[in-house]
Amino acid sequence: MKISGGYFKKILEIDLTSGTAQTLELSDRFILKYIGGRGFGAKLVWDNLHPGLDPLGPDNIVAVAPGPLTGVFLPASGKTSLVSISPATGVYADSNVGGMFGVELRQAGYDALVIRGRAERLSYIWIDNGQVEVVANEGLKGKGYLETEGMIRREIGDEMVKVAGIGPAGENLVTFACITADWGRNAGRTGMGAVFGSKNLKAIAVRGARDLPVYDVDLLRKLSTSAFEGLKKNPYFEFWQRQGLMSVVDYLNHAGVLPTYNFRDGYFDRADNINGYVMEERYKIGDTACFGCPMACGNINLVKEGEYAGTVVEGPEYETACMFGSNLGVDNLSFILKANAVCDDLGIDTISAGNLIGVLIEGYESGLLTRDDVDGMALQWGDERSILTLVEKIARREGVGAILAQGTKRVLERWPVLEPIISHVKGLEQSAYDGRATISMALAYGTSDIGAHHARAWTVGKELELGADWGAEERVDIVIYHQQARPLFDMLGVCRLPWIELGFSELHYPEFYRAVTGVSFSIEEMFRRSDDLYNLTRLINVARGLTSKDDYPPPRCFDTPIATGPQAGKVADREKYAELLQLYYKKRGWNEEGIPPDSVKSNFNDKLNE
Ligand code: SF4
Repeated sequence: MKISGGYFKKILEIDLTSGTAQTLELSDRFILKYIGGRGFGAKLVWDNLHPGLDPLGPDNIVAVAPGPLTGVFLPASGKTSLVSISPATGVYADSNVGGMFGVELRQAGYDALVIRGRAERLSYIWIDNGQVEVVANEGLKGKGYLETEGMIRREIGDEMVKVAGIGPAGENLVTFACITADWGRNAGRTGMGAVFGSKNLKAIAVRGARDLPVYDVDLLRKLSTSAFEGLKKNPYFEFWQRQGLMSVVDYLNHAGVLPTYNFRDGYFDRADNINGYVMEERYKIGDTACFGCPMACGNINLVKEGEYAGTVVEGPEYETACMFGSNLGVDNLSFILKANAVCDDLGIDTISAGNLIGVLIEGYESGLLTRDDVDGMALQWGDERSILTLVEKIARREGVGAILAQGTKRVLERWPVLEPIISHVKGLEQSAYDGRATISMALAYGTSDIGAHHARAWTVGKELELGADWGAEERVDIVIYHQQARPLFDMLGVCRLPWIELGFSELHYPEFYRAVTGVSFSIEEMFRRSDDLYNLTRLINVARGLTSKDDYPPPRCFDTPIATGPQAGKVADREKYAELLQLYYKKRGWNEEGIPPDSVKSNFNDKLNE
């Protein structure tokens, strides 16, 4: 099969220890097998594995990988994956960021970056088309993301430069530090910001002026015009533009699976104060969008009055609204906007932060922790001041914040007594969906390669719709189907939300890929590649010491029935879960321990350029 567009067939490798860069050529065979984005990133991480690899050591790499559709005139085509070994979980990790950064990187002439080593002093990487420089700048130390972005642009003398970087949390190696780009777009999960920090890497700045190679421009124009029109005709489109992911707050609260009081409950009786309608009426002043996206889900909000007046932020998304709202007993959207802005600037993932602060509050309230454990604070639900103090303490690694900053695994080492109330999988703090009433979602969390995040499979809606009518086969099949479809978006470098929220068919993507690259893949062939990617990330995790015990949802999922609301009393059944997990392994072709066969392993011994 001939590739006639879509790729520059080049990866830029930067070694921060030596301050050198080189270009790695990619063969057509390699490209066709791994497609791009997260596919390239996972293969680079696999090739770099060795015993004793420290996620925060100079030997760990981080790949920054847009996909072949990133920056092409198609709906929602501005996504870039960051791929590495996570300092939070110790296993495979990725997170993706929207906006314009990846588009600019592609326009600089690269399909991906791979960064290794450690700079002697705090630095940023400056990629100006084909020129690459590692620029030391200790004046950036301790700066928030927003100031960092401005300082780098001024130093370079170009306001159009695109920047992706970290705040103080990344510098301080907080295991849930994120990477931010374009003012407020975050690669939030799995601690990619700490990997940057461990490398003394504050940011990457990029300027690109190249045209992206497209095989058939006329076909692409025809397909994209029809795709844009199709999206706009969707009856839900206008509502989505108004609320974006904030629309999910009400849906999940009414369904009874909204994280509330540290996931103890699934229903928040004051959710009406923190939902999308309140945001629209009192706070929203505009929208932003990633490259090429008519859905424009980035809500720009302003707090107009009260204690937090003057706060302007892109957000919150659903996750932030409930992890800093219902999950902490807060019903004040002004506060949530403030917390969102503070976390963005410090460079902290709001999901992990909201999760761990909830654990601390419940731990103190229930007597598992003493007042000394929590720095003398009288923690209670809804205490906005204490919550903001904890966020700052985490980012600066002060007092109890220094323990939380090391993530769930270290929190449990310090306080094993918290095990029953902490919600995580593989060391990644659970995102904002409850799995107790939706056992397929528990399986989705348990089998997610990065830990308890919904990005791999989100089955809550279907499970609630079909409930008892669903058998084990259907539950496992839908988890695997999501795990096939979702990685594909990350490989191609596009956003999955048109597919999730507006019913945009996955069948569009083989057509887009053909117009851009000249390669005809069926959707089944594409899914085979994303299945291969799932095998590859599983092999990485097995090599890092993961066992089937790590494929279980948190204890709370089995042991604490939902307290109130429509799902009151619901709890997952451990035996039933174990059966689902074995069926899942079987369908994946893995053994009873969840290990892929040797033949799968040998499939990934290939080289980039052969
Ligand atoms: Fe970006 Fe939202 Fe559009 Fe996705 S739907 S590309 S996150 S603006």
